[in-house]
Amino acid sequence: MKVVAAAATDIGRVREGNEDSYLSDPPLFAVADGMGGHRGGEVASHLALDTLERLFRKGRGVLAEQIQEANRVVFERAQLDRKVAGMGTTLTAASFADGTLRLAHVGDSRAYLLREGTIQVLTEDHTLVHRMVEKGEITEAEADVHPYRSVLTRAVGVDPAVHVDEATVEIVQGDRVLLCSDGLHGMITDDEIAGILAAESDPNRAAEDLIEAANRAGGVDNITVVVLDFVEGDEDPLAQATAAKAREVGPRPRRSRGRGKRVALSLSIAAAVTLVALIGLRVWLDAQWYVGVSDGRVAVYNGIPAEVLWFRLHHVSVVTDVRANDAQHLAPWAGIADGIPANSRVEADHIVERITKDVRSAAKSAAGGGGQGTGSGA
Ligand code: MN
Repeated sequence: MKVVAAAATDIGRVREGNEDSYLSDPPLFAVADGMGGHRGGEVASHLALDTLERLFRKGRGVLAEQIQEANRVVFERAQLDRKVAGMGTTLTAASFADGTLRLAHVGDSRAYLLREGTIQVLTEDHTLVHRMVEKGEITEAEADVHPYRSVLTRAVGVDPAVHVDEATVEIVQGDRVLLCSDGLHGMITDDEIAGILAAESDPNRAAEDLIEAANRAGGVDNITVVVLDFVEGDEDPLAQATAAKAREVGPRPRRSRGRGKRVALSLSIAAAVTLVALIGLRVWLDAQWYVGVSDGRVAVYNGIPAEVLWFRLHHVSVVTDVRANDAQHLAPWAGIADGIPANSRVEADHIVERITKDVRSAAKSAAGGGGQGTGSGA
């Protein structure tokens, strides 16, 4: 059995830069979704994947250890270069050898398995909303539209060490695996993803169709997909070498729990991490922007649309003269009251421009008689 891969990335319809990266270099595949401003996000996702690829080629350690090393490299760069301070990235990687797919994962990008028409998520989102769902505070459906749905609880490069989820999947010929950033699974449902993957057998066209669907649904984020088809044929020679190596190391557990050494290491750095987290939170908040509502007007905010205990984690930066009500009636901006996240100040301004344009053209088509009747209910 061998793997045939197709990968694609797209800036989407709102963002000003593409901070996603992917790796499609059989038998290693990965997606990374960077954060921390334009420059930081791009640097983080590229640096993490470059490091991962280099270590994988050298055959140093297993995938999870290679990602932990990538974490260290990104973290150190962020400490050294003020322009990328606070940067980080998600990273979902898969390597295929000997009929087994090994997954290693941090963040909210995802891996899916499509087997005989049924889709299954192979990774767990490391997000605040996922934690809230697990605690029973909100439902899955509420999580999907939650304003902080992209706030991560774990990322590569933001702390000196990171815990990496691991999983293995015994692949059956005909399986299709998808790695994707949240720009895909945040825009369309798992059922829609499954439908597209099932409808298009060519992996390149399937990848393009997924991106097109996410853009049609709004494209509010960068979109990255890697489609892996497992078909009849001989495995990549490097994959066989990797498999031999993996056998020497011995079988990996399905999902590593914090064991012995790793627990001790985590505890010894816990204090340092807490300190970094407190300083980091301030720095991080300063780098966060969103578009929301202030006094009934569309406004640009610095921070995140949340309050923790009695601390407001945001302040108004600019209030526009666009009425929030007018924006709320337009489908893409219905959630503006909860805040529309942006990666930078420039991007927040860009979102405001789009809202202003949409509101004006809606007003024009309403004045022109007929029009498309955007939300007469409210
Ligand atoms: Mn994203």
